[in-house]
Amino acid sequence: MEGEKLMKKVDIEALFIGPKSENQKFFKETLNFMIDEHTHWRRDFHPDDKAAISLHDQYRKDFVETLQRTQEVLLELSSKLRTSSIPWFSPRYLGHMNSDTLMVSNLAYMATLLYNPNNCAYEASPVTTALEIEAGRDLAQMLGYDPEKAWGHITSGGTVANYEAVWVARNLKSIPLAIKEVKPKLVAGLSDWQLLNMPVKKILDLLDHIKAAGLMDQVRDHSVKGMGVNDGQLGKLLVPQSKHLCWIKAADILGIGKNNLVSVQVDDNFRTDLKHLKDTIDRLVKKKVPILGVMSVVGSTEEGAVDKVHEVVKLRDKYEKEGISFYLHVDAAYGGYSRTAFLDEDNKFIPYHRLKTKLTKECGFERKIDWPPREVYNAFKAMSHADSITIDPHKMGYVPYAAGAVVMKDRRILDLITYFAAYIFEGGDNNPMLLGAYILEGSKAGATAASVWAAHRVVPLNITGYGKLIAKGIKGAISFHRSLGAQKPFAVDGRRFIVMPLTKPDFNIVDFAFNEVGNTSLSKMNDLNQKLYEQCSYSSGPVYKDDFITSKTSLDTDSYGNAPLKFVEKLGITKYEWEKTKSVYVLRSCVLTPFLDRHSTYDEYWANFMNTMKSKLDVIIKNGWK
Ligand SMILES: *Cc1c(COP(=O)(O)O)cnc(C)c1O
Repeated sequence: MEGEKLMKKVDIEALFIGPKSENQKFFKETLNFMIDEHTHWRRDFHPDDKAAISLHDQYRKDFVETLQRTQEVLLELSSKLRTSSIPWFSPRYLGHMNSDTLMVSNLAYMATLLYNPNNCAYEASPVTTALEIEAGRDLAQMLGYDPEKAWGHITSGGTVANYEAVWVARNLKSIPLAIKEVKPKLVAGLSDWQLLNMPVKKILDLLDHIKAAGLMDQVRDHSVKGMGVNDGQLGKLLVPQSKHLCWIKAADILGIGKNNLVSVQVDDNFRTDLKHLKDTIDRLVKKKVPILGVMSVVGSTEEGAVDKVHEVVKLRDKYEKEGISFYLHVDAAYGGYSRTAFLDEDNKFIPYHRLKTKLTKECGFERKIDWPPREVYNAFKAMSHADSITIDPHKMGYVPYAAGAVVMKDRRILDLITYFAAYIFEGGDNNPMLLGAYILEGSKAGATAASVWAAHRVVPLNITGYGKLIAKGIKGAISFHRSLGAQKPFAVDGRRFIVMPLTKPDFNIVDFAFNEVGNTSLSKMNDLNQKLYEQCSYSSGPVYKDDFITSKTSLDTDSYGNAPLKFVEKLGITKYEWEKTKSVYVLRSCVLTPFLDRHSTYDEYWANFMNTMKSKLDVIIKNGWK
């Protein structure tokens, strides 16, 4: 036992090719080995078959020239890639939600690509469909669901994962009304309002009776799946202001209608404002408008904010007792994998009072890294009470694109979206024959499933693996935030500047902005930060020579109300200015890299960062910024 646990200890430095290709030898040798395996596999298939391409063919002029062109095109591609790609692997890159990807995932992907499985149908992917189901189970378990009852699978990304969640929530909401049409006895005595407020589990239990009575197809035909969406009858979908853009697309595509997407305010920390959520629900209920669903974000795309999922779960349970029910989805496309930092080596949620010691021991947290705050801890813990969760392996799973995932607490929900009979998991068979019939997408790369599956096998989904890796980024983000907050006003070309972080990171995103001391114009401050972004991104040309690369975002009143006000005030901007300009431009750093303090100490990293920003400010001033 002891030995087994020791074996599972993950060394973070062995997971990546590395910022300086330190692990190139292993990577190349293993890739070569996998290619050899594949080519032998081809040759060994019916060894008696004659070769289709003869040696004579291979000496033909056209043949040689075709290969020559192949090589030339690849050289051209390589030159383009090397000139203008973004060096995610370097700790100098603190921008979007990516960093280096795991060697094992890259190798698994490249090796599987050669076999080109299609996970739409089992007959096209006997290996990788099984791997996809297994990876889905891994995620279900990590998120605190019962893997025997849950359903998880890989999507092309968080966008499609969210579409699927809204899809099942929508279909589910219409089922009790459909049952009333098809088998009124089952819901006798319930008003339409009560039918539209039936708890998720109760609907799924009722469907078991419907299936037993052989009426599933009829009920589906009477649900929105058959009837279409009728004028917002199913109610409103409540999403926080911090939502990802794909929620607007989802409401449109799925016929919910943008008007039925209700935006819930966020607080100063960019988390859903619970009072506003409650008021919104009360207001709708008073008008007898049902609530189709509520969405909480774990790791908002722009700020990395973690909604208080535990409070939303409490609200849902309270309302359910009062006869008001809604579907609860957690959009953890970005933050989901961070739940691993809270799970011990036996995948149990670590008690709060023991977590700090664990993080110190496993992840090198020092005393001054005061993470996580209690509410973030509680939010991650409560995720398992949601009806479904979006979680992206291609973000904090450190897996190459395109790998998102959606996990549903109760797999019976699949019957609501499929066009097929509900037989897939019966008889203990965990491999649906036709995955494509239960998901939004059709043909899709089995290589993706292999790369997620392989990552989960090498890097455990708890504090000994992913937790440790992600915690290194969090440690970097907390340090970066602290340095930004402690930075005194500084001089460039005789002018004085300040920098300020937006909020304390809930985990690993830090937003920040610079201003000139004394400048009270928000549009001028926005212009300064935009120019800084241009100096630190592809927009000033290929980034290969850049010393620091980041991303940016704008927070405006349309999307965020007055949530950013406190922040701009700290930078010397008045409320009047904020109300006039209505938008603040910030630089945004997602700290996924575990290597922030590897090349040098963290203090040296910070000093380099400030020197870089000073020299960029110098360029901006020399270019005539007033
Ligand atoms: C990134 C993100 C998405 C969209 O995911 P893709 O993988 O880009 O499709 C959705 N929600 C949140 C919170 C995200 O961060």
